Amino acid sequence: MQDRVRVRDALRAPADGRRITVAGWVRTKRAGKSVSFLEINDGSCLSNIQATIDGADRELAAAVEPVSTGASVVVTGTLVESPGQNQAVEIAATGLVLVGPSPGDEYPLQKKRHSFEYLREIAHLRPRTNTFGAIARVRNHISFAIHRFFNERGFLYVHTPIITASDAEGAGELFQVTTLELEKLPGSSSPQVDYGRDFFGRPAFLTVSGQLNAEIYATAMDRVYTFGPTFRAENSNTTRHLAEFWMIEPEVSFCDIHGNMDLAEEFLKVLIRGLLAECEEDMAFFDQRIEKGLVESLRSVAESDFNRITYTEAVEALTNSGASFEYPVSWGRDLQSEHEKFLTEEIYRGPVIVTDYPRDIKAFYMKQNDDGRTVRGMDVLVPRLGEIIGGSQREENLDALEARIVELGLERDDYWWYLELRRFGTVPHSGFGLGFERFIQYCTGMQNIRDVIPFPRTPGNAAF
Ligand code: ATP
Ligand code: MN
Repeated sequence: MQDRVRVRDALRAPADGRRITVAGWVRTKRAGKSVSFLEINDGSCLSNIQATIDGADRELAAAVEPVSTGASVVVTGTLVESPGQNQAVEIAATGLVLVGPSPGDEYPLQKKRHSFEYLREIAHLRPRTNTFGAIARVRNHISFAIHRFFNERGFLYVHTPIITASDAEGAGELFQVTTLELEKLPGSSSPQVDYGRDFFGRPAFLTVSGQLNAEIYATAMDRVYTFGPTFRAENSNTTRHLAEFWMIEPEVSFCDIHGNMDLAEEFLKVLIRGLLAECEEDMAFFDQRIEKGLVESLRSVAESDFNRITYTEAVEALTNSGASFEYPVSWGRDLQSEHEKFLTEEIYRGPVIVTDYPRDIKAFYMKQNDDGRTVRGMDVLVPRLGEIIGGSQREENLDALEARIVELGLERDDYWWYLELRRFGTVPHSGFGLGFERFIQYCTGMQNIRDVIPFPRTPGNAAF
């Protein structure tokens, strides 16, 4: 295995007859009398490399005989110019080792196109398809690009906890973490749980957001971000919600809502540009097979200014459009995804940042405006998906924050440390959360969020 070449590098090498060895999984085999062909993929790129097996070579012909779709092989040969249309080079095999055979007709991935629903049922094999291989590479590329983006701008990467005692969003979509044997709790009457005997001595949950902890570090280190898994017991079965997803959350001191919008816009544009430049082959695949015009629309997003409007303006624009919606539009109600899509697809034809939402539909920590009824929240909306980023300028005024916590009936004592950040050296600060999978959906055109994460967790489904 030492001098094995990845398929990606082999395909870029000159056809100079060099000896090479590749290893991978057989995507297709075409057996002929005089020559047989193997298409081999090793995940390093979308393309397969073709190996030709000379039927006149008895030993080779015998070795290729039991090889079929799905098998793993190691092929040695010389890299030569390919007479075929689809590739510049191919391997003229001189040696072939069948590492792991595959009963070809039982292999769940046949040459025909499989539905994404079917592929979800074989999530252990779906990375061997073109689509899921491309998604895995794009996720990998964007993950690194995110760290690079923040690193180059002096942001500190903070590891916020996964287990937490606070509900950052106050939305009540929490998964509880406990070592109590719940099945031993009496089922008849509702039992009084003695949390003193639970692992943490109090109720604990999987985090829905790293924001509150990120604020602690932002008010010491100036600018930070977290990038980790978050969990929401979303009971909605939509194509945009997972129970476990990854979120990127920058938090910046001495920054107001405008700086926050600038950061979000630059962030998305830099990521899109990098993706188009560095994942060309995979992006061309998504453009051709998943969403026509994808690359062109991403390019134009990366090059034009995002529209910025207030919630009040959004409500007016939707009302004046005369369009009819399933959910009514009126000031004070949250925008539904149909409204978000209409704004981005029909009215503004591109990304829109909506700010200054009614305080009653947003979280307690958002900075209150002087009008007494709106807060400095911002959502970034994009065509096809609606919300992709949610963020805000945070309330840095101790009295205002305290009053809001009391007004909402939240436990003041639960937020004692959060309030102290406002008591000692408070500072205007802002941040946002980008749903990693929503962004991958946006960049690939994939319709269902279950297909852009390796192992989706949704209501009733935690297989694999
Ligand atoms: P939505 O209204 O779409 O449910 P939200 O208002 O609950 O979103 P935030 O709490 O602002 O979202 O979270 C920040 C970002 O995290 C969202 O903009 C979105 O990209 C992503 N996100 C939120 N919930 C989910 C989920 N269940 N699955 C995947 N991504 C999510
Ligand atoms: Mn939600």
